Amino acid sequence: MLQDLMDLVPNKTIQCLDNIGEVQLIDVMPRVAPQGQTADYAIAQAARVSYGDGTKSVNEDSGLVRYLLRHSHSTPTEMVVFKFRIKVPIFVSRQMCRHRMISMNEISGRYSVMRDEFYIPKPEDLRKQSTVNKQGSEGVIEAENASYFSTAIEQNCKQAYELYLKMIEAGIAREQARMILPLNLYTEYYGTVNLGNLLKFIELRTHAGAQWEIQKVAEACLEIASDLYPKTVAAYRKILDERHSS
Ligand SMILES: Cc1cc2nc3c(=O)[nH]c(=O)nc-3n(C[C@H](O)[C@H](O)[C@H](O)COP(=O)(O)OP(=O)(O)OC[C@H]3O[C@@H](n4cnc5c(N)ncnc54)[C@H](O)[C@@H]3O)c2cc1C
Repeated sequence: MLQDLMDLVPNKTIQCLDNIGEVQLIDVMPRVAPQGQTADYAIAQAARVSYGDGTKSVNEDSGLVRYLLRHSHSTPTEMVVFKFRIKVPIFVSRQMCRHRMISMNEISGRYSVMRDEFYIPKPEDLRKQSTVNKQGSEGVIEAENASYFSTAIEQNCKQAYELYLKMIEAGIAREQARMILPLNLYTEYYGTVNLGNLLKFIELRTHAGAQWEIQKVAEACLEIASDLYPKTVAAYRKILDERHSS
């Protein structure tokens, strides 16, 4: 008996940021597993092909997965692939594009009129420039300033979007009109990635040094990966902890 692995993921769409942002699991390969097993079986199955009789001493899939990850035998984790739909502001999408092993297909602002959807941080979420990390943030800004700037951001987006629509109405090409839209405009794309590269992305972007907004996206991916591959994700986390503590 086979089961659909998508059924292992109770929350296929995870809202993030100001709840316009989304990470949605669209599909996964392999899609089915023997009844009662998690998707981890696919990784162990791939490894057993390469080790043949040598794996007979490792009966448990979790033991084999731990062995593979500890010895950087990464290709079995590439045997499984996720397809996500991701909706994030453009400035987050630009960071995600740096992960070249995530294959992306994004909405075209040349073809479509972009939607009036902007990421507006709440006043209490406006962070201060870090004094120790030149590309990081720390703490929050004073309430009075925060409230002023949160409103100002919203007004700026409204004005920019009104101008964008006017330009389109006046016959200016969508591909050119979009240049005046701010980086907090939401964009949307489909992305496929194998588990090995997803774990690399999660490791880099759940790190405290990564931008808070992309941390939320990476955490959503981690939640979905953990539902499907609990043994592999647990083994990966344990190995990272060991590396960081040694
Ligand atoms: C905190 C932080 C700050 C950053 N700041 C900047 C910045 O200021 N500017 C900037 O441009 N980027 C920045 N980056 C992006 C960073 O440089 C990487 O591009 C990004 O993290 C993707 O990592 P990756 O290459 O491991 O991932 P992927 O591109 O997904 O690649 C996954 C793995 O595939 C292999 N691989 C992929 N392509 C190649 C290749 N061409 N040659 C050899 N091996 C390859 C590597 O093993 C790699 O680890 C930042 C990243 C982080 C986490």
